Amino acid sequence: MNQNVSVLIVGAGPTGLMAANLLAAHGIDFRIIDKKSRATLYSNAAAVHARSLEALQSLNLSQLFLKAGLRIEYGDIYRGKKLLAEIHFKTIDSEFNYLLSIPQNRSEKILIENLLSLHHKVERDTTLMAIYPFADHVEAVIEKPNSEREKFTANYVLACDGAHSSVRGMADIDFPGNDFDQQFLLADLTFKRNISQHKIRAEFNDKEILFMVPLPTGNVRFIINIPEDHSLYQKETVPLETVRYVCQNRLAGFNTIDKIHWHSFFWIHSKMSAAFQKERIFMLGDAAHIHSPAGGQGMNTGLQDAFNLIWKLALVIKGHSHQKILASYSAERKPVAAEIVKMTDRATHLIANQNAMVIWLKTLAFKMVNRFQSLQHKIVNHIAQLDYEYKDSTIIDYTHRISLRAPKPGCRLPNIALKRQQFMFSLLEPHRHTLLIFLFNTTAEKQAVILSSSICSQYKNLITPVIISTIKKLPQKNNVIQTTRRLLNKKLHINVNAVYLIRPDHYISYCQKNFGADELLMYLGQTFTSEHS
Ligand SMILES: Cc1cc2nc3c(=O)[nH]c(=O)nc-3n(C[C@H](O)[C@H](O)[C@H](O)COP(=O)(O)OP(=O)(O)OC[C@H]3O[C@@H](n4cnc5c(N)ncnc54)[C@H](O)[C@@H]3O)c2cc1C
Repeated sequence: MNQNVSVLIVGAGPTGLMAANLLAAHGIDFRIIDKKSRATLYSNAAAVHARSLEALQSLNLSQLFLKAGLRIEYGDIYRGKKLLAEIHFKTIDSEFNYLLSIPQNRSEKILIENLLSLHHKVERDTTLMAIYPFADHVEAVIEKPNSEREKFTANYVLACDGAHSSVRGMADIDFPGNDFDQQFLLADLTFKRNISQHKIRAEFNDKEILFMVPLPTGNVRFIINIPEDHSLYQKETVPLETVRYVCQNRLAGFNTIDKIHWHSFFWIHSKMSAAFQKERIFMLGDAAHIHSPAGGQGMNTGLQDAFNLIWKLALVIKGHSHQKILASYSAERKPVAAEIVKMTDRATHLIANQNAMVIWLKTLAFKMVNRFQSLQHKIVNHIAQLDYEYKDSTIIDYTHRISLRAPKPGCRLPNIALKRQQFMFSLLEPHRHTLLIFLFNTTAEKQAVILSSSICSQYKNLITPVIISTIKKLPQKNNVIQTTRRLLNKKLHINVNAVYLIRPDHYISYCQKNFGADELLMYLGQTFTSEHS
């Protein structure tokens, strides 16, 4: 048997590649295998949301994504040719206040090239054949390109092997859910006349639905439903001319197709893995959840699964945390996946429903969204995956709140702008915990500095303390930043001395008023082992 590896990643789609990049950033040894001989050539998942860009920023990859993608700032919703709502993505509460359109093959290429630059490579044409779980490791059997089989052990296995996950089957985990009857046609087209490069267009009428998303390649992602009485219904392959005819028919009077570059038919399945962890095996991405493409959530949710799990695995593998923190992966991500499956199911039912009353209600709802900015703001932040709360985590301390409206444990730290071009997340050191110490008055200055130094010396390699001070005379060192009382009050609703512990995935795991160290150190003692210096 070959030697042990800390982590085996099965599947090099977006989820597996994200997990691999994060493990590499943490300096953890791993192998990543994929049964296919190459990465996808297609544009499949084309929408990357703000929360994913925040995760990619921690890998220094967000700028490469932005360069390779197209920023979409608006979404127009039409009933027939009548505009019902213009959705403004600019109101997203993030540095990335837009939706990034980028074909999946480009996203995967960036992740693969970054891995290569860190001296890691996907083992292609390599299939997982069997896994045997033991108490302290997992035995894996893989088949390599020359049909040679290799047996080795891994401390942990990450199932990133997609909707038909073989790991899920091998681990005997159920995948219950529903299959929808609706069939859709997806095509990447170019038009004879240019259409807006910064807008998504959604159109519905009594029977038909149409979505158009501009791609950075100059193509347009085009999705239409195939009604049950249509001649194409239940067909998977049809001549290109028929596809062109059907697409053109839906675009009547709006635009003329120049070329169809790629097309595919799909049906919607909505399923969730019964368990996200079984001993040392973790389910991530499509292996854990599949659902309707409404809102472009699929790939983004997989990226967040990896962003949630990998820092925890890294802490455990390095001996800095106890194995039990890994249970929080399922406690945190399973409810999020369940909510996304429910939300996209509902959206799909609503979009596809042809009942006259539902169409009337839908029209009214979109008009309301257009009219009420606060409603629109809530919707775009939800789609961008910024507002998911971990409500029942095993590693978050929910005891304290700073104020009713201040950020609370279990939520993502708001990435507010502190100055022009300086956002809150720039204070967080990637892949480590950060202790944010909010200092409002001079009388507490000494205590704040003592707390900062004590955390620095006790948790040197794990936690970076940063003092955010509204006191003008505090010496400007590396870990002290100056801001105004007004800004903290207005944007974070914090106006008293307070401490926030921020995890590597930007979530708040603990907070307290004032700078007493006892409770904080007790919490840290439960999170980290004593082997951290
Ligand atoms: C046509 C199409 C359009 C889509 N459009 C969108 C969209 O607009 N927005 C959106 O969010 N999502 C969209 N999706 C879904 C999105 O592509 C998926 O959510 C995303 O790819 C999931 O990533 P993943 O890494 O979890 O799984 P996958 O991308 O499925 O990757 C799994 C990998 O595991 C490998 N593998 C499987 N079994 C084994 C094994 N035994 N051994 C080794 N390797 C194995 C496979 O070869 C594959 O490369 C679309 C999908 C398709 C097909």
